[in-house]
Amino acid sequence: DRVITSSLKNEDCEIENNLRPKSIGEYIGQEKVKEKLNIFIEAAKMRNEALDHVLLYGPPGLGKTTLSSIISHEMGVNLKITSGPAIERPGDLAAILTNLSENDVLFIDEIHRLSRSVEEVLYPAMEDYALDIIIGKGPSARSIRLDLSKFTLIGATTRAGLLTSPLRDRFGVICKLELYKPEELGEIIIRSANILGILIEKSAAIEIARRSRGTPRIANRILKRIRDFAQVKGNGMITHEIANNGLKLLEVDEYGLDNTDRNILRTIISKFSGGPVGLDTLAASTGEERTTIEDVYEPFLLQLGFIERTPKGRKVTKLGYEHLGIKWE
Ligand code: ADP
Repeated sequence: DRVITSSLKNEDCEIENNLRPKSIGEYIGQEKVKEKLNIFIEAAKMRNEALDHVLLYGPPGLGKTTLSSIISHEMGVNLKITSGPAIERPGDLAAILTNLSENDVLFIDEIHRLSRSVEEVLYPAMEDYALDIIIGKGPSARSIRLDLSKFTLIGATTRAGLLTSPLRDRFGVICKLELYKPEELGEIIIRSANILGILIEKSAAIEIARRSRGTPRIANRILKRIRDFAQVKGNGMITHEIANNGLKLLEVDEYGLDNTDRNILRTIISKFSGGPVGLDTLAASTGEERTTIEDVYEPFLLQLGFIERTPKGRKVTKLGYEHLGIKWE
């Protein structure tokens, strides 16, 4: 029952929709991304055209789905949400594309997981707003071209390098989402608490923010858990003390690391003399999936400076040793 996972949980789905900011003004942080998108959105609106295709990349829970709904809202068009693994055959994608209206936004989460044959349907669709359909078989087969409405594809992925280069090259706007600063997460927590009717001290919000590994989804999740704690152990108000005790119970330490982070650090130190160790070996020794380590745990450990990436693999730094109270040599 971890608070830190890459995947969505049922508890998230219920309230994530309520907590989602609806306009770019309500979307906290990611200033560079917002500035860039604002310009492209304004320009597209002035020309009365579809917005250029947008690729958003960064760790899970940073607000990619939220941004796509804000973009469609600002453009005044419909949004269709799907994901790479959900589109199994080329025909599935063709059906989605032919159902879009002029300037609509199509959001494909985990776009790096599209199959090759589906991806090939996307190329002419993105470039010429067209579908190439093969009719018949053998020597009499011929290809006909079907025009599509102009649309905007928003693709989301954890790392841009996971995309094939022909796909990546077809995006006009590429934006990297960064982990949030504690002050920004603090604002997000206070906003969420307001929406959910939770009473929280400012210092408690900052405490949770500092320990939510730069990720709004995790901050919101911790907020909800601590609200329960405040109801049972206090009078419902999240005080600084309640936040601290609740975080302790959730086994989130003062830097926001959980058991898995500590296990990763400890494994590198005890089994590989501090590293360097390759990702696959590390995954096998910790029992975590390689992609989970790469997308969820590593970015934050790197940001804290507890590990470093070398050509030969991952190493624990002096800071990482110190955090675990192990002597660095
Ligand atoms: P992703 O698609 O990157 O996995 P989501 O868009 O689903 O992430 O965001 C996860 C949750 O975090 C959403 O419920 C949303 O309420 C919240 N969130 C994300 N970014 C922001 C932001 N910039 N400001 C406020 N809340 C945010």
